[in-house]
Amino acid sequence: MDEVKDVVIVGSGPAGLTAAIYTARANLRPLVIEGEPSSTSDQPGGQLMLTTEVENYPGFVDGIQGPDLMAAFRAQAARFGAEYLTEKATRVDLSSRPFGVWVGDQEFRARSVIVSTGAQSRMLGVPREREMIGHGVSTCATCDGFFFGGQEIAVVGGGDSALEEATFLTKFADKVSVVHRRDALRASKIMQERAFKNDKVEFVWDSVVTDLVGDRRLEGVTLQNVKTGASTPLAVTGLFVAIGHFPNTGLFTGQLDLDENGYIVTHDGSRTNVEGVFACGDVQDHVYRQAVTAAGSGCMAAIDAERWLEAQAD
Ligand code: NAP
Repeated sequence: MDEVKDVVIVGSGPAGLTAAIYTARANLRPLVIEGEPSSTSDQPGGQLMLTTEVENYPGFVDGIQGPDLMAAFRAQAARFGAEYLTEKATRVDLSSRPFGVWVGDQEFRARSVIVSTGAQSRMLGVPREREMIGHGVSTCATCDGFFFGGQEIAVVGGGDSALEEATFLTKFADKVSVVHRRDALRASKIMQERAFKNDKVEFVWDSVVTDLVGDRRLEGVTLQNVKTGASTPLAVTGLFVAIGHFPNTGLFTGQLDLDENGYIVTHDGSRTNVEGVFACGDVQDHVYRQAVTAAGSGCMAAIDAERWLEAQAD
């Protein structure tokens, strides 16, 4: 392909689509390689496609469904001329400019690239786990804790995330069972102390979740003790999976600087180690992981890219 695009955006969650809105309004005619429909969603659009009600995105007094929010972001960028390719980027070459981004055999050349490929929660791998997200299963206590007022719920994991979420969830739930596969926690001592001191938190050691109970809403889980092999039911209406996340950075390994957990390292806003390549959203943020922070960083990446392109033209 001869045409060189000003901006190619890889990824279409809140970060990528906000970058698309801003770059489109700056007349940069971004191409968004938005990914493919997945087994759990008929549209790309990142982790919000896996959620139901979003109540903490500013501006929506009565909340909004995650997929509806993403559809609105997408339409807003399209209105200003963003183009979409509903495929996955399969290869990038960031070693020289213009950069190359491939979808199969099709090559796109770009003066600048914005990476917003996001991250994924690690999942347990039990049957029906993904289809029950939004129906009792959650990967985000900040997002969904509010829905579990007065209920009994479980958190899986033994790291800082699991204990932080368990402690946070006691603001809403009557009882939180932390299910951990070993008998020692990985979490920091201070998190452990906080959770041990909390009367609403109970620990179920040496145990894994093997099954989800309930058809349309979660009614319980089956636990298996990994030492004895014994199975026991646990009646819970919520299951928070907090066993870590991984960033979608496979495409960029060896080309962009990644931290020890595989997240893209950014500096001075959204800049990566390659001039002209910017990163935003969960692919470079393992701390906040919120739609609104991802959108904010998408705006930063768009402005950084626009200014950088302008400086190249001088
Ligand atoms: P993590 O530290 O990797 O812990 C993951 C936990 O999940 C571990 O306890 C692990 O068990 C368990 N686990 C992994 N795969 C599992 C599976 N398939 N089934 C059952 N359990 C499984 O992840 P994280 O807690 O998300 O923390 C990630 C990083 O962020 C850490 O560096 C953490 O310190 C940091 N963080 C900090 C804060 C804070 O300071 N406020 C809050 C959250 C996270 P094992 O222990 O047996 O491996």
